[in-house]
Amino acid sequence: MRDELNALAADLLAAVGDLQARGALVDLPRAEVDTAPQAAWASLAATSRTEVLVGEGGMRAVRDELGDCSRCDLCKARKNIVFGVGDPSADLVVIGEGPGEQEDLQGEPFVGPAGQMLDKMLENVLGLRRDQVYILNVVKCRPPRNRNPLPEEVDACMPFLRAQLRALRPKLGLVLGSVAYKALLQTTQGITRSRGRWHVWRDPHSDLVLPVLPTFHPAYLLRQPQDKRLTFADLKDLRARYDQEGGRR
Ligand code: SF4
Repeated sequence: MRDELNALAADLLAAVGDLQARGALVDLPRAEVDTAPQAAWASLAATSRTEVLVGEGGMRAVRDELGDCSRCDLCKARKNIVFGVGDPSADLVVIGEGPGEQEDLQGEPFVGPAGQMLDKMLENVLGLRRDQVYILNVVKCRPPRNRNPLPEEVDACMPFLRAQLRALRPKLGLVLGSVAYKALLQTTQGITRSRGRWHVWRDPHSDLVLPVLPTFHPAYLLRQPQDKRLTFADLKDLRARYDQEGGRR
């Protein structure tokens, strides 16, 4: 197992190095300090199942650990924890910022109008149904009045996003919108400047390296349809990379 993981890490690092050499990846600095609340991380780290299991079993372990979470104030008004949906063995993970009203009511991410647009984007450009990818959010509970999650709320929930990514081990990630992009890559750069360029996310607690492509959030595109062409171009790039890396359909 250790040899396989080492070989996988070596392959990934070689691939990343190759892409960086070709200028295809923008490598953001890895955060030196894990800002996640110690209690949340210690709890996850102590759950050896979460560290070892991948796929469906790994995701179940992360969900068990999350429990009826009250690690931040977003628990107070939520109706449902929105953990994520899709194929736990998917090659592509889609990362949004947090649940809206419909998502909170139904307990599933991207089910409102923005979700319908996401489904169309996935099917029409990538040729993938939503059950062929895994869709999740940075925070699992709805922020009141759909405001952006506060830094302390992102920090409280981030250990679970990282644990989900370790369990999924996808080939590629699609990051939707500025909030998710800034939270995941710990940058202040906005989505307008960063979209359409490949970035590398490195898990601070494992050897997981994930190439991610940020683009506009579907909710933004509903308000600013003139920018759909930019996201369309980003998704075409994602499709090419997905096929190149042997992503399954
Ligand atoms: S947002 Fe995350 S950390 Fe906060 S209560 Fe919900 S599940 Fe827990």
